[in-house]
Amino acid sequence: MTPRQKKKEKLRAKAILCKGCGIGFAPKDKRQKFHNADCRKAYYGVHYFYRVVVEKRCLNCGTVFSTSMPKKQDYCVSDCREVARKKRTDDKHVTVSSLEEENARLREENANLKK
Ligand SMILES: [Zn+2]
Ligand SMILES: [Zn+2]
Repeated sequence: MTPRQKKKEKLRAKAILCKGCGIGFAPKDKRQKFHNADCRKAYYGVHYFYRVVVEKRCLNCGTVFSTSMPKKQDYCVSDCREVARKKRTDDKHVTVSSLEEENARLREENANLKK
């Protein structure tokens, strides 16, 4: 085998399929996924919106939803976010009022003890 053939063999061994059009090619670089820049641009032009979409589970109702802003979106629809926000405020309210009740009860107990 000539060195030239060897080189060809090596390239063939490393050949991958282009992520865009599916053509077989030998990447010049490990990170190369497309056979050329135009192919990459065409692919991301079409897939840009799908590329960033991930599935998340709604923190309020548990529904799995797709979002392109996983870091910002925690709820399936805006209603769920509203509901969750209200719930949180209510929880706080309940906690505060139950604390007040508890304090009032303790004050009463103390007053009774002093009698
Ligand atoms: Zn391609
Ligand atoms: Zn939801």
